[in-house]
Amino acid sequence: MPLFQNATFYISAHNLSDLPAADGIEIAFAGRSNAGKSSALNTLANHNRLAYVSKQPGRTQLINFFSLNPDKGNDQFLVDLPGYGYAKVPMSVREHWKMVLSRYLTERNSLAGLVLVMDSRHPLTPLDRQMLDWFCYGGKPVHVLLTKSDKLSRNDGFQTLAKVKKELNANWENCTAQLFSSLKKQGVEDVEKAISPWLKMPD
Ligand code: GDP
Repeated sequence: MPLFQNATFYISAHNLSDLPAADGIEIAFAGRSNAGKSSALNTLANHNRLAYVSKQPGRTQLINFFSLNPDKGNDQFLVDLPGYGYAKVPMSVREHWKMVLSRYLTERNSLAGLVLVMDSRHPLTPLDRQMLDWFCYGGKPVHVLLTKSDKLSRNDGFQTLAKVKKELNANWENCTAQLFSSLKKQGVEDVEKAISPWLKMPD
C-alpha cells in the first residue's frame, strides 16, 4: 500500500501549544510558497484536494496534520508546514512563523524527517538554506523534492539534481534529493522509498 494513500486530515495548529502530543512519528513537508508543496502532497496521496490551502497573502496559516494510518492507531503523521517566503506577508506574521517553524523543526521529538520542496528552477534559496541549517543541526534526515521537473529538459533536470546534491553534501548532513513532477506524476515511488524508513518506530 503506497505510503500516503490513506492520509486523512487530523488537526490544525496555529501555535506550538496547539500541537498534538508528540507520541507518534511525523514527517514534515516544508517549502517556499508556490514551490509546489500542495500539489506534491496531493499527488503523493492521490487526492485532489488533500492539501488545499487558501493562498491569499497574509491569511492565517496553519500547521496541518494528516494521519497516515487513521484505521490503525493514528501514530504516523504527515505534517504540512506553512509555505514561507511570500513577499506580501506582513512582518508580524512572518516573525510568528519564523519562531514557530524554527522551534518545531529543532525541538519536536516526534519529527522523524523533513521533506523540503523546492521549485527545480530555483533551488536552495536563502530561506531553504535557513530551514536546512535549523533542521540538519539535529542530525535527522532531509529529502529534497525538486518539483515541476517537467518544466526542465531531461539534461537540465539531470544537471540541476547533480548540482543540488553536491551543494547539499558540502553543507549539510544526511540529505538526499530527487526530481519530482506533480503534473506528470513522476517521482512518487522514489519519495516513498526515501522516506518510508523514517516511519519505523525506534526499537
Ligand atoms: P505551494 O504554494 O508550494 O503549495 O504550491 P502549489 O502546489 O500550489 O503550486 C504552485 C503553482 O505551481 C501552481 O500553479 C501549480 O499548478 C504549479 N505546479 C505545482 N506542481 C507542478 C508540477 O509538477 N509541474 C508544473 N508544470 N506545475 C506545477
